[in-house]
Amino acid sequence: MRLPAHFDAQAFDKRLRKWFSRHQRDLPWRHDRTAYRVWISEIMLQQTTVATVIAYYQRWMTRFPDVASLARAPLESVLSLWEGLGYYSRARNVHKAAGLIVKDHNGEFPRQFEEILALPGIGRYSAGAIGSMALGLRVPLLDGNVARVFARLFRIRGNLKSPALQKRLWQRAADILPRSHCGDFNEALMELGATVCTPHKPACDRCPVAAFCAAHSHGQVAVFPRKVPRRKMLREEEFALVFIHKKRVLLEKIADGQRFAGFWRFPLTPEKPSAKCPRLDSIPYTFTHHRITLHFYGVTRSIAATLFGPDNTNCFWIPLTDLDKLPLPAAHRRFAKGLHL
Ligand code: SF4
Repeated sequence: MRLPAHFDAQAFDKRLRKWFSRHQRDLPWRHDRTAYRVWISEIMLQQTTVATVIAYYQRWMTRFPDVASLARAPLESVLSLWEGLGYYSRARNVHKAAGLIVKDHNGEFPRQFEEILALPGIGRYSAGAIGSMALGLRVPLLDGNVARVFARLFRIRGNLKSPALQKRLWQRAADILPRSHCGDFNEALMELGATVCTPHKPACDRCPVAAFCAAHSHGQVAVFPRKVPRRKMLREEEFALVFIHKKRVLLEKIADGQRFAGFWRFPLTPEKPSAKCPRLDSIPYTFTHHRITLHFYGVTRSIAATLFGPDNTNCFWIPLTDLDKLPLPAAHRRFAKGLHL
């Protein structure tokens, strides 16, 4: 997918970067731009809004200002700081990658694109962001915002997430890249998608590159990109047991390989508990395309004895005063906060 012959890439770059230099949002990761800071911000921003990420990012940088401090920290502290952001494999991968950077790269963030790409949790997009924005590499990037901007600029039809179209869009991202200032150019494209060329009602009247936009000039902005039906949400129920005794609560450490591995939770049971157990609360949460209602049931001592036998090796008595110190999935944390201990 080569650039159309009439498309003036140099003029486009000039117009876009001029707009970016004047209108970019003041975000914490845009100051003191190191590979480490760009890396953490880009991973946090996957699947999460800028407004949510800002406070998490600032707390993270206070606690883990560099790769070495992150690599030294126990995973549990890392998960605690990530608690509420969701998609926790991101936090586990960040922690693992920090360990590898210390072990294999003397604690210095690698500067070669292939080395960056080899780190856990860093895909082509993140490597492109870190490489171009922090290390001055001439590498492209493509995220949802950039794909949407391209679909409108060049009237690209089809499902932007399909592998065939992804391949072509990456090629376009490489072809449109200027010879220098690639980091600014890439970031400006993403900023345009996030603040002007938005999914609904793009602000074409204040778009710096409207003169280059094929969808705009054909009056077809609403047609691009093609709408893809959302995946259907599946409804599910989960049941958690709450057993508090002598100012301690029974919690389960979630094993590797399970959803929320490394976190703690009120123990789950596959069946709805008997009528003898009072329902204490029900908290809805969403996980990918699952809409889950998590019911919490109080458990009496005699029932607990049958449920939490010696085989249940992942369950531990935790002092109630330590609940705040352990990472809990968001729905469990909400319930724990309501306990008024
Ligand atoms: Fe997007 Fe409108 Fe700008 Fe085209 S003119 S790039 S549709 S904001």
